[in-house]
Amino acid sequence: MGAGRLTAGTRLVVATHNKGKLAEMADLLRPYGLDCVSAGSLGVAEPDETGTTFEANAALKARHTAAATGLPSLADDSGMCVDALDGDPGVYTANWAGPKRDFSRAMRMVEAALDGAKDRRARFVSVLALAWPDGRVDIFRGEAPGTLVWPPRGANGFGYDPMFVPDGHAVTFGEMDPALKHTISHRAVAFAKFRAACLDARA
Ligand code: IMP
Repeated sequence: MGAGRLTAGTRLVVATHNKGKLAEMADLLRPYGLDCVSAGSLGVAEPDETGTTFEANAALKARHTAAATGLPSLADDSGMCVDALDGDPGVYTANWAGPKRDFSRAMRMVEAALDGAKDRRARFVSVLALAWPDGRVDIFRGEAPGTLVWPPRGANGFGYDPMFVPDGHAVTFGEMDPALKHTISHRAVAFAKFRAACLDARA
């Protein structure tokens, strides 16, 4: 059975309280004429991310918001997986920034954990989960492979962007024009799968 479709005018709740992700999702969704609202603006609190995979966390956030609002809800769970750290920080990527969400600190922690390792391969992962009010959930996964650099470079983007150079490019996500990042990022890859399955291009 294929995923359900979201036609123009449908109200869709974007189930994230992260301003950076919200802005990127709004940009990606703009051409499809959906009536997008954020979970925060509807007063829906964020559930605890108790899953141990990106898929589990994305699904639980989307399901929670669909159940609270009765509307289709789209959630993203994402993070950075570093090869030399056995995939860490992975689903704990946001936690490494501490309660103040200090990503300068988080990037320093990654660099310290690498401890001079030669292998600086990493990838960003994004899993989108679309939960329907009837409880069904559709899942879409995207990855952006690259290399970590030190010191961090660039003020664009968010999170770990300043220390990540995506494959095929010489600049970090933090230095890159956001419009270009949006065409190659892990979120863009997951979004392309979501779009093909669920969205109708407007005439
Ligand atoms: P969560 O999906 O809310 O658990 O948070 C994932 C964390 O991964 C974010 O807080 C960011 O630190 C990091 N992250 C996810 N996507 C990106 C990205 O595109 N650039 C930089 N950091 C990202």
